[in-house]
Amino acid sequence: MKYDVVVVGAGPAGAIASKYAARAGARTLLIEEHASIGSPTQCTGLISKAALVECEIGEGSFILSKMKGAFVYAPGGEELTVRGKDTKAYVIDRKIFDRALVERSLDQGVDILLKTRFIDMNGGRISVIAEGEQREIHADIIIGADGIQSSVGRAAGIPRCKKFLSGIQFEAPYTAKDPEFVEIFTGNDIAPGFFAWAVPFGGIARIGLARSQDDIPAISYLERLLKHPVVASRYRGSLTEHVIGGIPLGPPVKTTKDNVMLVGDAAGQVKPTSGGGIYIGAVCAKLAGEIAAKASRKEARLGEYEKRWRNSIGRELATGMRIHKSLGKLRDNDLDEFIAYLNQPQIREIITEYGDMDHPSILFQKLINMKDKKRLIKLMGIAFKTLF
Ligand SMILES: Cc1cc2nc3c(=O)[nH]c(=O)nc-3n(C[C@H](O)[C@H](O)[C@H](O)COP(=O)(O)OP(=O)(O)OC[C@H]3O[C@@H](n4cnc5c(N)ncnc54)[C@H](O)[C@@H]3O)c2cc1C
Repeated sequence: MKYDVVVVGAGPAGAIASKYAARAGARTLLIEEHASIGSPTQCTGLISKAALVECEIGEGSFILSKMKGAFVYAPGGEELTVRGKDTKAYVIDRKIFDRALVERSLDQGVDILLKTRFIDMNGGRISVIAEGEQREIHADIIIGADGIQSSVGRAAGIPRCKKFLSGIQFEAPYTAKDPEFVEIFTGNDIAPGFFAWAVPFGGIARIGLARSQDDIPAISYLERLLKHPVVASRYRGSLTEHVIGGIPLGPPVKTTKDNVMLVGDAAGQVKPTSGGGIYIGAVCAKLAGEIAAKASRKEARLGEYEKRWRNSIGRELATGMRIHKSLGKLRDNDLDEFIAYLNQPQIREIITEYGDMDHPSILFQKLINMKDKKRLIKLMGIAFKTLF
């Protein structure tokens, strides 16, 4: 088998990259190790309206509910309400969503092989295991869209991402305070270095947390979250789907090497402030697919991908990483103070006006421009002072 472009991994990034490669004239193959697309799912499925636009997919049956805002809980219990004027985000079913994205790529003429696992490569020769047998596929350009563990990245010798968070989540019956509001819980007892959440839809919620890696089992944190007074009052026992997954933060210095490019989680293209990777993955996947097609015809170099994706979202990711690091260092009493600061009426107005889940730097830029920024700088530390 010989292709211009082979994309490994049929998640959102792989689906979009393959669509763009085929659209730009490349004979393209998408390979996926699992028997079905979008399964197993390791995601809360909360995406912005902009993400849907970036994925070039209209509202479909994958939308489970629409979100207008968030309740953010400080460790000490203070509740901050962040209210959008209209729908800010969707809760989606990743199985249906990922399949819809792959269908669009197949519509562009992409070939697909399921139950086909990339194992290694040597130049343009890719070794895969399909139906228990080792086979070879030839490709001019290889796109690794194979998620956090990225076998393609390892085989190419591309360094790994800078940091990894550990996530754990399950679904359970839940009586949300408001079904159009996401609930965010902070505190070093339940999610050190990050946060926990309950994302409601149809009488249930995806309840979970991500945290900096440590030796304490994830389940211990989940048990503590379930004892949080707010969660305990809304969680109605029992559980369905249970997932454990990692979140890569901070792209490696290079995401291309020889004839290989990485995209999506494989390249650490994830927002460090929220752990969301679908929006940024889509932005970068379009560039990856288009440039891969050109490179297969010797009309572009892969370095162009590196340059263009970093120009497009590199700054936002770097700013996000600094905000993440600053917030991750806060002790519980600092988090209480930080949330109390955000809970002032004039600050809440700014959050409503400028809060953008895909571009948090816009809001932080507005906050740092305010007269009363001393408290903020004290809390966020030196990283924040030098942020802008
Ligand atoms: C607990 C948790 C909650 C999250 N919540 C959100 C959220 O609410 N919103 C959001 O935007 N993001 C969220 N994310 C992140 C989001 O899930 C990822 O950023 C997104 O799935 C990345 O897409 P991708 O296509 O790069 O990789 P993936 O979706 O991981 O897809 C990679 C694909 O490659 C395949 N693959 C892997 N190795 C091979 C191989 N060797 N051969 C062939 N195929 C292979 C896999 O089977 C998979 O289908 C969450 C992550 C976690 C862990």
